[in-house]
Amino acid sequence: MRESIYTIPVNEVFVPENGCPICRMRDMLEERCLEYIMGAAMMEPDVRIETNRLGFCTDHYFAMLKRRNRLSIGLMLESHLEEVEKNILKGDFTALFDKQSRAKKAKALGESCYVCSKIDWAMERMLSTVFRLYTNEKAFREAFRECDYLCLPHYELLVSRGANEIPKKSFSDFHKDALKLTTDHLAELRGDVSHFCKMFDYRNSGEDADWGNSKDAVERAVEYLTTRRPK
Ligand SMILES: [Zn+2]
Ligand SMILES: [Zn+2]
Repeated sequence: MRESIYTIPVNEVFVPENGCPICRMRDMLEERCLEYIMGAAMMEPDVRIETNRLGFCTDHYFAMLKRRNRLSIGLMLESHLEEVEKNILKGDFTALFDKQSRAKKAKALGESCYVCSKIDWAMERMLSTVFRLYTNEKAFREAFRECDYLCLPHYELLVSRGANEIPKKSFSDFHKDALKLTTDHLAELRGDVSHFCKMFDYRNSGEDADWGNSKDAVERAVEYLTTRRPK
């Protein structure tokens, strides 16, 4: 595997831009992975062995279908489907010790994804760097606090992983900072979603109705809760 494509300097992610920095990290890794398997890696046997085995999740099948290169999906599917038949569905049915073996294999395949596995692998390393920088560098702690917000799933990820990796002395500050980033954003979202709902009242139906910051409040709330912005 070309590991270098999954290396992103953490300082490029923790910048004072809109959005959750960990979502940004995930999006960059995802983009690089999709670019790679749909292009340069299309004919690489080691990549194909992994995509045959793991397949893809719904999000990533759809993300690939949105791109132009349908031949690379076709080639990946051609050998993936062959492997599904050979490894999951074929074989002597009566000789199976475990009657549910096929169903279990099919379930495991449904839960695995080549792109997700690469993102998880790279994120794990990058998060360790985040924790190390937070513990040791004042400038990074400041950059962390300056982030726009943390979405709820990434607040959970940072705090649960950080609890094991950040020394006790620094962890309570880290948790306090992470909690503030996610709580402040939630308060803002709640205000915007309530404003959005009020705009459906007949008293607010005039042309000069003030939507304030609420027009995309529902999309932003979904993004906060799921890490994905509805398109
Ligand atoms: Zn996020
Ligand atoms: Zn996936």
